[in-house]
Amino acid sequence: MDPTLRAMLNAVIAEPEQDHLRLICADRFEELEAGDICPRCNGNGEEEYMVYRDGDYEIDVRNCYQCNGTGGTSNKLARRATFIRKQCENPSSQWPDFKYGLSVVWRRGFIADVTCTMAEWEQHGPSICDQHPVERVVITDKEPYVYTDPPGTRVYTWYRTIGSASRHCVRPEIFDCHGITKKFPSSEESYDWLSRRCIETARAKSAALSAV
Ligand SMILES: [Zn+2]
Repeated sequence: MDPTLRAMLNAVIAEPEQDHLRLICADRFEELEAGDICPRCNGNGEEEYMVYRDGDYEIDVRNCYQCNGTGGTSNKLARRATFIRKQCENPSSQWPDFKYGLSVVWRRGFIADVTCTMAEWEQHGPSICDQHPVERVVITDKEPYVYTDPPGTRVYTWYRTIGSASRHCVRPEIFDCHGITKKFPSSEESYDWLSRRCIETARAKSAALSAV
C-alpha cells in the first residue's frame, strides 16, 4: 500500500471521531486514482468497489495505467473519495453491504459495523480492521451465560475455553481475564465488551501481519 495512505488510514483508525482525517484520506485516494487500472487488468475488481456503485459521481475517464488501454479504469479510488465526502456530509447515512461475505454497514465513508459469526470474524476481522475504523462487531453465534445465583439475581459472563464451539465460550485471547471470571450486570454490557475485545484482538493481529 502507498505509505502515505497507510499513515492516513492509521490516523482515521486512531481517531475515528475526526472527520477531517477521513477527508484527508479521500484526497489521497483521488491522488492515487491516476495509478488505477482497468477492470480487465483488475480481474473483476475489488468487491469493495461495489459499495460506491450508486450516486451521481463525476468521474474522469482515464486510460489504464497497466495496459494503457482505452475504455477507462474502474475509477474505484475516485469513487471511493467521492463516497467518503458524501457520507461525511451526512453523518447519519448508513450504507449496508457485504465485505468478504460478512454483513457490514458503512458510515462516514468507512466500515463502522460488522455482523458475523465468531469464525468469520477470526478469518476476516483483521483485514477489515486494517483498513477501517470498526466501531461495533455483533457476533451472531455467541451469547453470554446467565448466572442466577443467588436466586433472584442475574449476571452475565463469557466462558474462556480453548477450541470450544459452545455459544457461551470465547477464545482465551479474547477473554483476557487470566482465569478470573468477568461478570457483567447486563447482557448489553457483556456484548459491548465482546465487541470491544473482538476489535482489539483483530487490530493486534492486523498490526502483527503488517509488521512481518
Ligand atoms: Zn488495463
